[in-house]
Amino acid sequence: MSHVMVVLPCFATVRSAANRPRQNGNSKTKKMQSRSSGGASLGFGGERKDPPWQCVQGCGACCKLDKGPSFATPEEIFDDPLDVRLYRSLIGPDGWCIHYKKSTRTCSIYSDRPYFCRVEPDIFQELYGIDKKRFNKEACSCCRDTIKEVYGSKSKELDNFNHTIRSSSSN
Ligand code: SF4
Ligand code: SF4
Repeated sequence: MSHVMVVLPCFATVRSAANRPRQNGNSKTKKMQSRSSGGASLGFGGERKDPPWQCVQGCGACCKLDKGPSFATPEEIFDDPLDVRLYRSLIGPDGWCIHYKKSTRTCSIYSDRPYFCRVEPDIFQELYGIDKKRFNKEACSCCRDTIKEVYGSKSKELDNFNHTIRSSSSN
């Protein structure tokens, strides 16, 4: 998922998100529905636009596929057993994806990566039942959760992500 930027395998969404209520989709996407709703309100009838999500170079957190018990399992996310099998086949002995290049923090099969590695509104809606209007907010939230789990809540990777998102939203 990198440029090459690394993109978020959708299954990287944390279990806490999996327990949120859903508005549409199947029983598994229900698990991934967020509590949050639409654009954040500013009060006074105004609406604030969520800052656009973007993948940050030099991260790669979401390519650690085995993140531990606080994250949803592929069985909890995918309906198709082939997706579960594909996901599991990617996990290397150290928990990182076998296609992840640690030296550059990039995906070695970027253009051919599985659909669930693509952070796109359509994929979030299909897999998690997340409305496209909430894509930016949910994708940023997924990244932060993933980066905290892999690198820590005080990591430079998290600082870098937050700084990039803030910068892009102020442009
Ligand atoms: S195939 Fe592996 S390295 Fe590539 S984006 Fe998906 S999880 Fe990351
Ligand atoms: S966690 Fe987010 S910023 Fe980091 S590599 Fe994945 S998609 Fe990119």
